[in-house]
Amino acid sequence: MSKKWVYRFTELDQVEEYVGGSWDDVRGLLGGKGANLAEMVRIGVPVPDGFVITTEACNEYLSLGEKLPEGLWEELTTSLNEIEAATGKTFGDPKNPLLLSCRSGAKFSMPGMMDTVLNIGMNDATVAGLIERTGDPRVAYDLYRRLIQMFGSVVMHIPDEKFEEVITRTRKQAGVKTDTELTAEHWMAVTEEFKNIFRFHTHHHFPTEPYAQLQMATEAVFMSWNGKRAVDYRNAAGIPHDLGTAVAIVTMVYGNLGDDSGTGVALTRSGTTGERRIEGDYLTNAQGEDVVAGIRKTKDLSELKKEMPEVHAEFERVAMSLENHYREMQDVEFTIEKGKLWMLQTRDGKRTSQAAVRIAVDMVEEGIITKEEALMRVTPEMLDFFFHPQFDPQSIKKAIQDNKLLAKGLNVSPGAAVGIVALDADLAEIWGKEDGKKVIMVRPETRPDDVHGMLAAQGIVTSRGGRTSHAALVARQFGTPAVVGVDDMDIDLTRRQITVGDMVIKEGECISVDGTTGQIFLGEITTKEPDIKDEWLLKLLSWSDEFRTLGVWANSDYPVDASRAREYGAEGIGLCRTEHMFMESERLPFVQKMILAEMDVQRSEAIKSLLPYQREDFAGLFRVMDGLPVVIRLIDPPLHEFLPDHVSLVRELSDLKIQLQHAPNLDAIDDLLKQVRTKEKVLSRVEVLREDNPMLGLRGVRLGIHFPELPQMQVRAIFEAACLVTREGVDVRPEVMIPLTSHVNELKIQRESLEKVARQVMEEMGVKIAYKFGTMIEIPRAALTADKLAEYAEFFSFGTNDLTQTTYGISRDDAESGFLIEYMVHGILPDNPFETIDAEGVGELMRIAVEKGRATNPNIKLGICGEHGGEAKSIALCHKLGLNYVSCSPYRVPLARLAAARAAIVAGH
Ligand code: PEP
Ligand code: MG
Repeated sequence: MSKKWVYRFTELDQVEEYVGGSWDDVRGLLGGKGANLAEMVRIGVPVPDGFVITTEACNEYLSLGEKLPEGLWEELTTSLNEIEAATGKTFGDPKNPLLLSCRSGAKFSMPGMMDTVLNIGMNDATVAGLIERTGDPRVAYDLYRRLIQMFGSVVMHIPDEKFEEVITRTRKQAGVKTDTELTAEHWMAVTEEFKNIFRFHTHHHFPTEPYAQLQMATEAVFMSWNGKRAVDYRNAAGIPHDLGTAVAIVTMVYGNLGDDSGTGVALTRSGTTGERRIEGDYLTNAQGEDVVAGIRKTKDLSELKKEMPEVHAEFERVAMSLENHYREMQDVEFTIEKGKLWMLQTRDGKRTSQAAVRIAVDMVEEGIITKEEALMRVTPEMLDFFFHPQFDPQSIKKAIQDNKLLAKGLNVSPGAAVGIVALDADLAEIWGKEDGKKVIMVRPETRPDDVHGMLAAQGIVTSRGGRTSHAALVARQFGTPAVVGVDDMDIDLTRRQITVGDMVIKEGECISVDGTTGQIFLGEITTKEPDIKDEWLLKLLSWSDEFRTLGVWANSDYPVDASRAREYGAEGIGLCRTEHMFMESERLPFVQKMILAEMDVQRSEAIKSLLPYQREDFAGLFRVMDGLPVVIRLIDPPLHEFLPDHVSLVRELSDLKIQLQHAPNLDAIDDLLKQVRTKEKVLSRVEVLREDNPMLGLRGVRLGIHFPELPQMQVRAIFEAACLVTREGVDVRPEVMIPLTSHVNELKIQRESLEKVARQVMEEMGVKIAYKFGTMIEIPRAALTADKLAEYAEFFSFGTNDLTQTTYGISRDDAESGFLIEYMVHGILPDNPFETIDAEGVGELMRIAVEKGRATNPNIKLGICGEHGGEAKSIALCHKLGLNYVSCSPYRVPLARLAAARAAIVAGH
């Protein structure tokens, strides 16, 4: 049976039957816009009549090499005839013309990324008929010129500026400010000029045959699926490229028929904060694109209540019924034609992360959705926003006092951004991506082909546009701070500068943008730690805790990190990297002394001097983590990391020797000689310790075995601290972790030697501590022999940073700055394995280790402390593997709580 390419809005039942009933598949076939139009018709919302050409037709068209599939046009004509019969108007009829819009709409919303053409069916004959029927030549010519303009730019790719220039000039000549003040004669003249522009650019007359217009517009929408901006957007938003777009053909309704007409867009809740109030912009006496394009200054929806109270009330009722029907915040487009409300579109509204959290939580409390649904609606990445820096209020205050507040606009996407001004998308991309600079993209308004620049920018500012403008929608989607509609800002694209009052900001100068308040400042404002006490966020996180089975711990080295981690909900410290403490300036000399020591006594002395420092470090952590486990990892990195770099030493030594040759007197020679001797000593030791592959050399447990005094000192410090703090009444739970084990004998020897120290300290201090010993699993051999390791470990912690390096045989630092980028670009690897655990390889080793470890020791505690422990997909894998907890950076703890809950919900437990 041949495929059906066209469905009327009233044929939703047939669509459902064809795709098998799932709404997701309906959207796949009709596109989100088409599916929702059909659904709106089904639930009785006033929608202008129309039909949808399916995504299958688009894909067929593209695969046939841009040829319409067989039968499509016949089906389309049949549907059109039915609409003609229903409306009493005829397509192309000069007396009573039916006009159509042709709109793109893919399965997933891609705002403004593809094309729309309005008023199809206008030509010299229908314009005359329309004038006769409506008695309004102004409207008729306005519609006609719009068709030529949109058709010209969308279908024939004539730069839109060419058309806009004519309108601007006409307004100037007529001495008026707005388009609505232009008369019928003006629009008639503009129409003629537009036809000439069309002919000049395309070498063809504007096509007057309505069916030809419709066909060309439909094909242009199909082709726009593969346009650069659509492809860029899909790449950025992770939307597959093979879905295709549907085309919705809708009968036109008019918002430009006078003061009882209008058009607008609205969100059923605030897209910025999530508050429960309809938020939108509209224009009286205007047609669709005027509102989103941001060319005319829009009015707030609250004004409609005064202008047309009945229509406003009906609009609110319909908008809320749509929200209730979809059980989700809606983004709607509407037109009022001579006092009659028509809904043109509804879709799930884009929102900031803050709004997403609030809407999800509120909807649970309003009884609209379940807690599970709320948790599934907020992605872990969204929570990242709450942990982004905000501007420091003190710094803002000072900037205001110093007259650095440039302007204020609409706060459409929250967050703080600082960067240099780039006045076009290409430059923003070059500066941002290639030169690694922080950029704020500033434009009069943005268009879909600016998206590449917006993605490369830290922040976005536009001088025009409202809350639902293109800039606002895209910024929110990607979490980029943005301020739009900054009326006071004059952007001069020729002189490459911005003027606000008497202040001039040149392209390349630094500004700060506060997307939370809408303020823009000259120069750099300092940022500060975020406030995470958001009422809705806390509620969502507490619900996460009800559902998750994975524990969430944190990687923290210092008491301040640990207390932040606790505040964010960490249930333990999963990794304290003790070597970080060795790097501090006070301690490094002792560490170096220890490494450079020639005799055992010297080494013991140096190690002893480190003991009190370490004891204080651990005591601090234990106090903060009162009642919770603290995993302390013994020294891991190769010793060269604590010593000066070999190349620099050689260079410094040769410099000293040159200075020696030119020394002015004996004192100077003496001094230089001393320096040379010290450096030579260090150099010779560095040379002894030098390894070709230090990360695969003397580190981890190997280092502990080689220099037993070092981990012994650390264990002494841990247990002395634990005993002291226990006496203070703190509940201490130390877990000693041995890194980089590959053979059971390493673990056995190290543990025995260290546990002896632990027991000795407890005996000396007369305190008993409940402790654990365990190891990291960072080497494939450790994973494969986990059954043996489990005999000597009460816990395993997967060090997936090293486990990924050792499984792949890739050095992370070298790879991420080199070939790994190439691998990602060419799709050789699906994800960066250092960000998301490679489930097939590293994940499989983990699975084996879990199974073998538990076989020997059923009570063994299993966790992860590599960076992956804070990444959503990896957390889902850890849930599946049955780990007990994940441990991640304190800032990612909330994200991990949500990700763990979502993993449990998806897995059904
Ligand atoms: C790991 O390898 O995953 C780990 C946590 O250790 P480090 O990153 O300190 O090597
Ligand atoms: Mg490691």
